Amino acid sequence: MKVFKFGGASVSSADAVRNSVNILKMYPANKVLVISAMGKTTNALEIVARKYFSQDPEVWNIFQEVKNYHDGIITELWGKPTELPEVEKLFQQISSRFKNEPSMNFDYEYDQIVAFGELISTRIISLYFNEIGLKNHWVDVRNCLKTDDQYRESNINWELSLRLAKRLFTFESEDLYITQGFIGGTLTNQTTTLGREGSDYTAAILANLLDAEEVSIWKNVPGILNADPDFFPNTQKLDELSYKEAIELSYSGAKVIHPKTIKPLQNKNIPLFVRSFLEPEKAGTIIHAIEHTLELIPVIIVKKNMALITLTPNDYSFISINSVSDVFSLCAKYRLKVALLQQSALDLSLAFDEPEQGIEPLISQLQQKFEVKYNIGLELLTIRYYTPETVNQITAGRTVYVEQKSRRTARMLLK
Ligand code: ASP
Ligand code: MG
Repeated sequence: MKVFKFGGASVSSADAVRNSVNILKMYPANKVLVISAMGKTTNALEIVARKYFSQDPEVWNIFQEVKNYHDGIITELWGKPTELPEVEKLFQQISSRFKNEPSMNFDYEYDQIVAFGELISTRIISLYFNEIGLKNHWVDVRNCLKTDDQYRESNINWELSLRLAKRLFTFESEDLYITQGFIGGTLTNQTTTLGREGSDYTAAILANLLDAEEVSIWKNVPGILNADPDFFPNTQKLDELSYKEAIELSYSGAKVIHPKTIKPLQNKNIPLFVRSFLEPEKAGTIIHAIEHTLELIPVIIVKKNMALITLTPNDYSFISINSVSDVFSLCAKYRLKVALLQQSALDLSLAFDEPEQGIEPLISQLQQKFEVKYNIGLELLTIRYYTPETVNQITAGRTVYVEQKSRRTARMLLK
């Protein structure tokens, strides 16, 4: 059995959906399709969630835009305006939420609304596939991927999800299942999400639970490249990567795969292919167990919107393991993912993604014990397999705030 993941770009229009049919026909084996919300729907639904939470009547306009976009795709796929009751029902469920006041938990409200992107896309695609004779079974993944209630970044209950997944995906009378990426459900059936871009992770979880032979992520790039082609000329495709290398790259900010995707696959030795939906016959990149050492060309990853803080204890005591541990507890409380750490006798520097709610609450808490210096709007540049020339080329004329080099990796915070 294979797991295929189609991201937002691969199902962003009627043509794209039709293209995915051709890809499926190339692989006749049993499959689970994990699909994201169409195009930029998740971004739009994030705005809907915010406007609803602040009770801004403009919520209705954005909601209507999201609906029109999907109606347009349906019209094109069916060749005429068509009302699909299963899809209409989902839109009604969103709009009926607007009639009630939100709770006080934004993250909860966010998940209840944003998850509709995936519910709607999978419904449309499943109905369309059935319509053209590609028989498939639609699964509400919330009944199978059970999570805790840490909304917007929920954690999988692996044991329970395993039992439920085995029961739901039997392949007894079906050979094609269609389900949602990115979303899950709590034990009391509240909707949760796994974090932005989490559909890759869903594909990996299902592959792990169902012992898939392989996972393919279909993207609009030919595979994993050594740099982002939007910002660097002459990029090259990496033909293969180890699981470890793939985790390092995605954690540093390479956007091709969600960082959590690799572990569930590595744990069961399941290979991951990153392939182009525009050129599906090409090999793409394979991520798998590699015994030999790879000689890679420099791989450049840029992560934007980073914050850097430097802390010095107010009383001039050394930075101790206890102060580091206090700072890390605070980072955990604010759900910050520390991407870089540097310490001297009196200074502790940390870099992380700028928090959505602003950095001020964290700073004022830290100021109780430390003198705090900070910068926001920085770039974290990671170069795996760096050479002095690549470092010079990229940093020329820019301010470097922190620089770290190990045998293989150079990392810099830049303005
Ligand atoms: N639709 C979700 C997002 O855009 C999940 C995903 O695409 O992986 O974040
Ligand atoms: Mg998406």
